[in-house]
Amino acid sequence: TTELDFTLLRKDFPILDQQVNGHPLVYLDSAATTQKPQAVIDAVAAYYQNDNANVHRGAHALSDRATQDFENARTKVATFINSPKREQIIWTRGTTESINLVAQSYVRSMVTTGDVILVSALEHHSNIVPWQIVCEQTGAELRVIPVNAAGEIELDEYYAMLNESVKFVSVNHVSNALGSINPVKEIIDAAHKIGAKVMIDGAQAVPHFAIDVQTLDCDFYAFSGHKLFAPTGIGVLYGKEQLLEQMQPYQAGGEMIEVVSFNGTSYNKLPYKFEAGTPNIAGAIGLGAAIDYLNQLDRPALLAYEDRLLAMATEKAKAIGGITLVGTAKNKTGVMSFLLDGAHPHDVGTLLDQQGIAVRTGHHCAMPIMQQFKIPGTIRASFSFYNNESDVKRLFTALEKAKSFLI
Ligand code: PMP
Repeated sequence: TTELDFTLLRKDFPILDQQVNGHPLVYLDSAATTQKPQAVIDAVAAYYQNDNANVHRGAHALSDRATQDFENARTKVATFINSPKREQIIWTRGTTESINLVAQSYVRSMVTTGDVILVSALEHHSNIVPWQIVCEQTGAELRVIPVNAAGEIELDEYYAMLNESVKFVSVNHVSNALGSINPVKEIIDAAHKIGAKVMIDGAQAVPHFAIDVQTLDCDFYAFSGHKLFAPTGIGVLYGKEQLLEQMQPYQAGGEMIEVVSFNGTSYNKLPYKFEAGTPNIAGAIGLGAAIDYLNQLDRPALLAYEDRLLAMATEKAKAIGGITLVGTAKNKTGVMSFLLDGAHPHDVGTLLDQQGIAVRTGHHCAMPIMQQFKIPGTIRASFSFYNNESDVKRLFTALEKAKSFLI
């Protein structure tokens, strides 16, 4: 894939072609949510224009079409992450709901007082708070795998924490706050040796590289559509079949039942057991379209390109002085988190926005790692394949200007 191709790819994302505060938009907030290619926008619009109906119940043509498209999208997700069966793909609202589902429907019933759940110090709040709640409900204890000053999980300390009390481990694949790529394969294999199950929060991994849940051998994997060039409000939980079979429903209502009577109710088969109520049909179809879009691209080339932009930004940050990089893991992708020395991240973010540059500032829903580094938050520039070198240059021109204002 040549630079020219990337110029063409950028044109697939119509939102990028606009002025913000009198400047051409530079969107460096893809870790918060990615922009959507025209193909996804068209798929969602076409669904509402031509096929809109409720799924699985109608005895009419539109309902059949909606159901087929909705279920085809599930098959696309299954293939995308190499799930053994399409029935192991559960639609959720996003990563957050996927984690809460596993916390309440699986872990809550399998842990008790004295048992331990492990998360890392580098988690998003959505991979911390659901486990705190399960611990309150059950008497289990939440312990934290340490992370070093570079923002890397300390594997040796993790191995030392593993004993027969540890029943469940949940870690992210890629950190949204720092961009660290975590050694999830090693984490999964070590947990399995002591009989613990493992959930991987893949929200920031799926947009960057291919996932194979069978090679990883994770018990659960979660991600959000909106970080994968698809709409908000749709997400995925993958689980091992035997675990999903043994789990209780998460929410109750229509769709998740087989037979309902006042003498007792039986539940539907997988995946519907976990999909109470009318689902986000357009969202699922949009996610299917996003996967089709990615499948026709050379994904390793996209990643190499993104990593080149990240390397370029990192070099510039080191060169201009007055910038402290936060998170310097050897293995990282997508995210440059940093501080402008002597300035509050929010003030920097505001000055960048005035120059048309969209970044995120703050704790990035990962307060514990900010507490460890004793900082209130960072400025985060995050990259996707629709960014280019000009975006990186614009960021640094704007940062120089912010510096002259603030320091
Ligand atoms: N985990 C990680 C690593 C994330 O980056 C995010 C989104 N910032 C989430 C979980 C939560 O995802 P969502 O808000 O889409 O449920």
